[in-house]
Amino acid sequence: MTIPDIIIAVDGHSSTGKSTFAKLASKEFNLLYLDSGAMYRGVTLAAMELGLIGPEGELDLDGIRTLLETLDLKFVSTPEGSRTFIGDRCVESEIRTLAVSNNVSPVSAIGFVRAWVDERLRAMSRGGRVIMDGRDIGTTVFPNAELKIFMTAEARIRAQRRFDEMVSKGENPVFEDVLKNIEERDYIDSHREVSPLRRADDAYVMDNSDMTLHEETVWLRGLVQGKFGILE
Ligand code: C5P
Repeated sequence: MTIPDIIIAVDGHSSTGKSTFAKLASKEFNLLYLDSGAMYRGVTLAAMELGLIGPEGELDLDGIRTLLETLDLKFVSTPEGSRTFIGDRCVESEIRTLAVSNNVSPVSAIGFVRAWVDERLRAMSRGGRVIMDGRDIGTTVFPNAELKIFMTAEARIRAQRRFDEMVSKGENPVFEDVLKNIEERDYIDSHREVSPLRRADDAYVMDNSDMTLHEETVWLRGLVQGKFGILE
């Protein structure tokens, strides 16, 4: 389906399958896919490696501010698709570990971290034709995005999906830990002062608790056709 040069913002709760959905849509509509969560995860990983996050989650704010002055965090196009890099090191799998997941929400609640990430996301999106997923894309990063989608699903269902994904990668997670991490991230993301997670007034809500990926794409196609008057 051919669509105009638009920006699609996909926001929602943790582990609702936003990135899988957005990647599929990027292929279907020939849009650049940008994963904003990977930027927050990359900053968190770099901060952890420098010892800027203590064992109880204490944040060394001055240290993180200094880190951002030189942090070379970027997306690199590889034969396997877009991957997150710090310098010339691929950190795609390291940023998805539970250790990073446990620290990412406090780090992403820091105002100057958000400003740093937003600046990079906007620079990478110049010219449009982008689909970006995150927590505040439709409310803060691109409040004028032509299409906004807000994804949600029941917490236990999201935890089960995340659990299955980790097991399939050879990890050995405990279900209750995964569920706890999801609930904690929901809470922190929705209650932080700067750009809290909330549905934009003009976002279309998708609760995919009982939806297959195929049903999600059918839903999106219908939405895009209706919204942009595409007859196909
Ligand atoms: O999307 P993902 O789960 O990888 O994002 C990791 C974390 O980064 C989220 O739990 C949230 O705390 C933060 N995040 C954010 N704003 C975004 C994207 C992610 O605060 N736009």
